[in-house]
Amino acid sequence: MHKRYPDSWYAASVPVRDDEPSLTGDADTDVCVIGAGFTGLSAALTLAEAGRTVTVLEAARVGWGASGRNGGQLIRGFVGQERLAKHWGGARAKDVKALTWAGHDLIRRRMDDYSIDCELTPGWLEVAPTPRQLAMLYHSYNEMETAYPDRGWHMVGARELADTMGSDAYQGGLLSMSDGHLHPLKLCLGLYVACKKLGVQFHEHSPVIRIEEGETVTVHTGDGRVRAKHVVLAANAHHKLYPMKLGGLAFPAGSYLIATEPLEKDALDRLNPHRYAICDTKKVCDYFRMSGDGRVLFGGRVNFSGHRPKSIRDKLMPRLLRIWPELEGVKVTHEWGGKLGVALGEVPLVGRVGENVWYSFGYTGHGVNMGNLMGAILGEAISGHMSRFELFAGVPKWRLPIGRCLGRQVVSSAIVYYWLKDRL
Ligand SMILES: Cc1cc2nc3c(=O)[nH]c(=O)nc-3n(C[C@H](O)[C@H](O)[C@H](O)COP(=O)(O)OP(=O)(O)OC[C@H]3O[C@@H](n4cnc5c(N)ncnc54)[C@H](O)[C@@H]3O)c2cc1C
Repeated sequence: MHKRYPDSWYAASVPVRDDEPSLTGDADTDVCVIGAGFTGLSAALTLAEAGRTVTVLEAARVGWGASGRNGGQLIRGFVGQERLAKHWGGARAKDVKALTWAGHDLIRRRMDDYSIDCELTPGWLEVAPTPRQLAMLYHSYNEMETAYPDRGWHMVGARELADTMGSDAYQGGLLSMSDGHLHPLKLCLGLYVACKKLGVQFHEHSPVIRIEEGETVTVHTGDGRVRAKHVVLAANAHHKLYPMKLGGLAFPAGSYLIATEPLEKDALDRLNPHRYAICDTKKVCDYFRMSGDGRVLFGGRVNFSGHRPKSIRDKLMPRLLRIWPELEGVKVTHEWGGKLGVALGEVPLVGRVGENVWYSFGYTGHGVNMGNLMGAILGEAISGHMSRFELFAGVPKWRLPIGRCLGRQVVSSAIVYYWLKDRL
């Protein structure tokens, strides 16, 4: 049966389009991309721009995975960036730092080049629930202001914060005007249209079930085969294509969102007059923003078991009301969830299986920027420019030498640990 988009506000706010045909029979291409999220779409576009023929196989629909249903928060850098810079040291550490804004710059360039409207709105406010976390934000402010003085930083004290976000639930915040938020499914679909213009072939409802390696790689779906010189595996953390080689490196974590009915303009101006994206500093964080049509989109990391809660609304609404009690009684119109890939060693998982199957996944909560960037980095590596790819591929990967179930329990324990730490 064909998989439809989840019942998200995003899916409800894009035009209906025809499905791409599923793969039948045999096809030949330079590069076969598996997965049409940010990583796959960005790789496909980079390769098509370089003149390669590209075929994309997507198990469900373009943007069906985390890329089309996430919080839409466009956040600089990536989890594990410091660790990666330390690992390399010297000039390569500088190359790692240079990636901080590379995903943002790429997205903006593509929005211009391909006229993609994805409601990009500037401003990301990171808010601290505890004095210790506020001190950490001051520290980051000093570092960021020194490293990137032109990126628009501002420390917001508790009193100013009440005016900036109509709440006294936090101790203060760090505002970055170069981060922001966007409609992630519109970005996916914009990239898809750009790829199509450059001749990329898409097959939806075409889950890949097997990859046969060799000088030419053969990618199998239930009803067809694609022969390619290279394969990009951009299927996030939860495919089962290489259990021995890629299993145990990352875990799917469930994260969930609700969308309210549109609020009156007065309420929007009271609660979030500048329409910033807001995220707290906790490891298990709440993230929220206003949609283009005036809804509150509120998300939170709820579990690491992968099981969707019975009522996402019931889990998230109390958290939202702690921040904005005046929303008591507001209707929730949509609720949905998705899985993001958490890399065990924090650093995104990038590399090759054999010579010509390239992969990248495990961006934790930074995948809007990183999915787009890593797709481009895979694309440029396939074209022979390996230096940015090697920054990631060259680091040792952490793997749990135990079964998936036990692995999940270990990760759940880590979350309890972070939950306690967040309260200090
Ligand atoms: C609820 C939620 C909220 C998030 N919020 C944010 C946020 O606010 N900001 C941020 O930066 N990041 C956020 N993230 C993380 C971010 O969305 C992801 O890191 C990023 O989208 C991953 O992109 P991807 O292309 O690698 O994977 P995905 O978008 O998951 O795409 C993988 C695709 O591969 C397809 N696929 C899988 N297996 C196969 C197969 N065998 N054959 C063919 N196709 C296959 C899937 O159907 C899917 O479409 C969030 C994630 C979730 C789930």
